[in-house]
Amino acid sequence: MAKKIELNNSLLKSNIQFQSLKIIEPILQAIEEEGYTIPTPIQEQAIPIVLQGIDLLGCAQTGTGKTAAFAVPILQILSANKPYGRTRKIRSLIVTPTRELAIQIEESFKAYGRYTGLTTTVVFGGVNQNPQTSALRSGVDILIATPGRLLDLINQGFISLRDVEIFVLDEADRMLDMGFIHDVKKMLSMLPKRRQSLFFSATMPPEIVKLAGTILHNPSQVSVTPVSSTVDIIQQYIYYVDKGNKNSLLVEILKDKSIKTALVFTRTKHGADKVVKILLKNDIKAEAIHGNKAQNARQRALTNFKEQTTRVLVATDIAARGIDVDDLEFVINFEIPNIAETYVHRIGRTGRAGAKGTAYSFCDADEKAYLRDIEKLINKKIPIIDKHPFPLIDNFPVKEPVQQRGKRDFGHSRPKPTEINKPKKLFSKSRNSR
Ligand code: AMP
Repeated sequence: MAKKIELNNSLLKSNIQFQSLKIIEPILQAIEEEGYTIPTPIQEQAIPIVLQGIDLLGCAQTGTGKTAAFAVPILQILSANKPYGRTRKIRSLIVTPTRELAIQIEESFKAYGRYTGLTTTVVFGGVNQNPQTSALRSGVDILIATPGRLLDLINQGFISLRDVEIFVLDEADRMLDMGFIHDVKKMLSMLPKRRQSLFFSATMPPEIVKLAGTILHNPSQVSVTPVSSTVDIIQQYIYYVDKGNKNSLLVEILKDKSIKTALVFTRTKHGADKVVKILLKNDIKAEAIHGNKAQNARQRALTNFKEQTTRVLVATDIAARGIDVDDLEFVINFEIPNIAETYVHRIGRTGRAGAKGTAYSFCDADEKAYLRDIEKLINKKIPIIDKHPFPLIDNFPVKEPVQQRGKRDFGHSRPKPTEINKPKKLFSKSRNSR
């Protein structure tokens, strides 16, 4: 259920139910338990095509329900023709560019396939390979992988693509951006010629169309409105601020009593605890929710936040998965996520079902590149609030939190959108005095 919040509600307009897509009972039951009743447009279009064994070219982004659009029919096909013999072979391979996506896809396969008896595992780089190779040794039906680690494990003899029946290339345009295209071509040469292929990309530039042509055979096409429309209803702003001043800026923003509750994201668990400490010191009721907290402590923090007895919930991305809060208006990114998609997921906690939503992001000098990636993904420039007490003093290494000199009576310190870029003497003056 929790994951459902990442989906734009406007996607759930169909009149049909999952039952009418001829999905087998064990999978129907699992998706029902996930809280899905109505298929999203991409699911409604793609599931019948994939179930017929036809190749698919999908133009869709993450957040449109794309994973279930391929995972559900793959699970169904693989459960219908279980092979004889005792050892499982990799019969479906899903390749995706980032570790985060790979993990999410694996979780989805595990959730939708929990009553099918099929096994799924995920391999990605940057971590010790041993747990991955031991999972592979015990046999898997479905493998989700990022390109580099996949090729590495193939070269070491841990993976064979000989038995792959269904191949999925996910987020192909990002693969291209991330320089994975040669890896993809290498793995294509190792896949059996006779296979079903599903190809997804959020955009279709000529190189992607060409690549799709080399992978797919007589494909059917589906295309859905980009998820970035979710992002459009949320008012988003950037504060450029030095790392050492983020705490002070947060406290300053939260002085505004019209912010009833706010969900603050930090990159690390330790960071979340530190932010909570600072807020409590400033008489702002806050609690942290992250992977090091016991489940009941997390639940308690969440309940307090929902009931608005805690004003600020500080979360890491992992812990934020279960957060489903109605009427949450403010999301604050204390750090800019290094994966652009995470930004979309984070801010998607607000502005749900047509409600108002505001997202502030604190960006220090080192995070500017991440911000660029985000703006590229959402295809828009995020307005900057540059009249605030802690402007970024670029190129100066920040050792001590930099306090602004001069008068600190900012009144309503959170500029209204209309005030953005309007020169405000007080702030410009104090900045010049540095
Ligand atoms: P995806 O595009 O696959 O990353 O999915 C985006 C989010 O929508 C995920 O959190 C899914 O759990 C959720 N989701 C997918 N399909 C449905 C559905 N039919 N109804 C409600 N939520 C869904």
